[in-house]
Amino acid sequence: MYLIFRCDCGRVLYAKKGVATRKCVCGKTLKVKSRRIFKRVETREDASYAVQQMQDEIYGNTDFKRASEL
Ligand SMILES: [Zn+2]
Repeated sequence: MYLIFRCDCGRVLYAKKGVATRKCVCGKTLKVKSRRIFKRVETREDASYAVQQMQDEIYGNTDFKRASEL
């Protein structure tokens, strides 16, 4: 089982159930238990897919493009 949650910086992360902490690429170390869990999935593939989906929803390709045009 994998848990999907977000860092304060907005990035979506996943951690295997039972893992206490997870380090985000922003440098922050998150306590998995204290995060709000958005989703629970069975496999690592599902976890990485769920993260991708959420990132797309949050940032969106159009917004990303618009930001880089500035
Ligand atoms: Zn972060």
